[in-house]
Amino acid sequence: MGRTKIVGSAGRYGARYGSTLRKRVRMIEERMRAPHRCPRCLTPGRLKRVSVGVWHCTKCGYTFAGGAWVPRTQLGKTFAPEELRQMGLK
Ligand SMILES: [Zn+2]
Repeated sequence: MGRTKIVGSAGRYGARYGSTLRKRVRMIEERMRAPHRCPRCLTPGRLKRVSVGVWHCTKCGYTFAGGAWVPRTQLGKTFAPEELRQMGLK
């Protein structure tokens, strides 16, 4: 192993798309898979990205809408998911 030292998870793209783009993909994917804290039970490292913008906590079963690559975005910091629901945005 150790075959994808530089591009990491972006190694699945092989030699395609150029090295700069693959390094950028790796940066985003590492941020996505890093341990994030669940907004309900506050347990870090149990959040899983179900699809783009949908996050699921494997501990308390909480599924919520967040950022595409990270659970909390700038908008998400301004409004908690519960507040967005009250405002009828979800
Ligand atoms: Zn949770």
